[in-house]
Amino acid sequence: MSEELVTIATTYNIVEAEFYKNQLEAEGFEVYLADENIVGSFNLLANAVGGIKIKVPSEDAEDAAAFIEELGSAEIVEEEMEDADTGYGECEKCQSRDLSPYREALGAKGILLFFGIPLVKPKLKLTCNICGYEKIEK
Ligand SMILES: [Zn+2]
Repeated sequence: MSEELVTIATTYNIVEAEFYKNQLEAEGFEVYLADENIVGSFNLLANAVGGIKIKVPSEDAEDAAAFIEELGSAEIVEEEMEDADTGYGECEKCQSRDLSPYREALGAKGILLFFGIPLVKPKLKLTCNICGYEKIEK
């Protein structure tokens, strides 16, 4: 199985994520939720991980995204790509400035960090939204 999964939408609401998953499955799509557990158990950390990602196999991405768009309200990834300067510098591979941060090492220390107490400095992993290139900053 070498199917590539593509994020078609993100949401900070676990109920909403489940809703979209159910709706998509009812339409016959294969759906996966990423970061669902961390968002569910540490609601405050939803921002830190960038929300729950709704993923489908790449071949279904266009149809599934269109379907979700009709349902409304989820943040459609395509829209974010338009003004693509997220302030994290540029991708070393494709020079896109559309990079998403992903902090690793979340947990109890991550929660303290979230409230602005710099006990630990987790590695900041940046993921390019265009080509998928990942770079780790220290
Ligand atoms: Zn890139």
